[in-house]
Amino acid sequence: MRYFSTRDKNNIVSSKEAVIKGISEEGGLFVPETFPSLPSLEELIDLSYKEVAYKILSLYFTDYTEEELWKAVNGAYDEKFRKESVIEIKSTKKAHFLELFHGPTLAFKDMALTILPYLLKAAVRTRNIDKKIVILTATSGDTGKAALEGFKDIEGINVIVFYPDGGVSPIQRLQMVTQRGNNTFVSAIKGNFDDAQSGVKEVFSDVDFNGFLEKQGYILSSANSINIGRLIPQITYYVYGYIELLRRKVISKGEKINIVVPTGNFGNILAAYYGKRMGLPVNRLICASNNNKVLADFFNTGIYDKERDLILTSSPSMDILVSSNLERFLFHISGNDENITREKMTELRERGKYYWDDFKENIYGNFTDEGETSYWIKRVYEGEDYIIDPHTAVAYGVYMKYLEEEKDETKTLIASTASPFKFHKKVLTSIGKGITGKDFRDLEGLAKVSNTKVPKHLAELEVLPEIHNTLCQKDEMRDVILKFLKVNKND
Ligand SMILES: *Cc1c(COP(=O)(O)O)cnc(C)c1O
Repeated sequence: MRYFSTRDKNNIVSSKEAVIKGISEEGGLFVPETFPSLPSLEELIDLSYKEVAYKILSLYFTDYTEEELWKAVNGAYDEKFRKESVIEIKSTKKAHFLELFHGPTLAFKDMALTILPYLLKAAVRTRNIDKKIVILTATSGDTGKAALEGFKDIEGINVIVFYPDGGVSPIQRLQMVTQRGNNTFVSAIKGNFDDAQSGVKEVFSDVDFNGFLEKQGYILSSANSINIGRLIPQITYYVYGYIELLRRKVISKGEKINIVVPTGNFGNILAAYYGKRMGLPVNRLICASNNNKVLADFFNTGIYDKERDLILTSSPSMDILVSSNLERFLFHISGNDENITREKMTELRERGKYYWDDFKENIYGNFTDEGETSYWIKRVYEGEDYIIDPHTAVAYGVYMKYLEEEKDETKTLIASTASPFKFHKKVLTSIGKGITGKDFRDLEGLAKVSNTKVPKHLAELEVLPEIHNTLCQKDEMRDVILKFLKVNKND
C-alpha cells in the first residue's frame, strides 16, 4: 500500500515514511491510494481486540514486518488498559455506547497514541535515521496527555506539548503539568486551541527553523491526528464494536449500523468512514458538534466557515474551528481530486471559508449546546443509571435530534470518548449533585454516585508535583522548543 498527499498525488510515500513525516511538504495529508477490503465477518467474529488491530494494520502498513506490527499491538494494548477487551460496549435502551476511554489517560486518544510510538520507532529504525525525533503537538486537552504518556522515556524521541492556557479542564491541565519522563516537555500558550494548532503548523512549515534543528540533530514529527499512524489504528474499534454487537446478537450478520461520533478534528469519525469504505456495514455516519458547530453547518449548508469566535465549552476536546482531517474526507469524496482539495484548502486559508456541494457520503451533522449537554447527562443518568461525559453527551444529544428528524430504527453505536471523571464538574452539576470546588473531593463524590472508584491515574494526581510551568506567547514557540531541547539559538 502506497500513500500520497491530498494536495499532490505525485508525492508518493511508503507507510513508514508517512508515519515519520506526519504532514506532507505542501501541507497536505497522506492518504492510502485505495481502501483495502475487510476480512469476512466469519474470519473476524472470534478475534480479540489485538487480533483485529493486527489485521487492520497489516492491510495498511504493508512495509512493516509481521513482527513489527505484533510488537506494536502487544506493546500498546496491554495492562495499561483497564479492560482486558481494551474497549467495552455499554448498551442502554436507546443506543450502544462504544467506551473508548479505558486507557491510561481516560480518553479515546489512547487508542491510537499508545501504538503510534511503536510504529514511529520501527519506521525510524528501518530508515536509518540518525537524528532524534521531536514529537511536537498542540492539544485541546486529551491528545497532549496521551502523547506524553505514549512517548515518555522512549529512547531517541522527545515530546513537546503546547496547550491553550485556560482552555483545558483542571484535570486535563494537572495530567499534563505533572507528567514524568526525562523526554517530556509541556508549555501553556496564551490563546485558544486554534492558536496553539496554527502555531505548531507554522513551526512545521518553517523551512529555516527545521533546517537549523536538523543541523542540531533533531527532526520534527507530529502526533496530531493528521498522522496516518493515528488514523488507521482507530478503524479497529469500529470493526471490533461491530463484531461485538454481532456476538451479543444485537445485530445479525451484515446488518447495517449507524455510528455517532462527537467530533473536533474529524479524525475519529474519519476512521469510521474508512471502516465503511472497507466494507463495514454502516448505514449513516452522524457527526456531532458542540457549540462550535462549524461541521454541523458545513454538512447542512455546504459552507465551511471558520470566521467566527471560538466558544469555550464543557467539551473542550471539540472546541475547534479548523477540523484538519476533513481535508482527507474531501479528497476521498471528490474521487481523489487533488486539485479541488488544494483549491478548497487555499480558500480556507485565504478567505476563511469555502463551499462544497458534492456530498457523495451523506453524513448527518448537528450540534448540542451547553444546556442540552447538561440535560442529556442528567437524562441518561436518571433513566439508565449510566453516567456519560460531556463529549459523549454531545453525541447523544445529536443522536436524539437525528431520531426525531429521521425516525430511523437502525441499531446505533455512539463513540464514548472520555471518562466522566475527566470532566467531573460538568457531570456533577448536570446531574444535580453539588460540587465543593475541591477537585479531588468532587472526584470522590462522582465515584460515590456512580458506584465505582476514582480511576487510579486521576487519584494519584493529587499528590504529584507540578513539574511543567512554562507559559509563552504564540510567537515564542520556537524559543521554547529550543530551550526544552537545550539548543543555543546562535549555534
Ligand atoms: C479528541 C476528542 C474528541 C474529538 O475527536 P476528533 O478525532 O478530533 O474529531 C472527542 N472527544 C474527546 C474526549 C476527545 O479527546
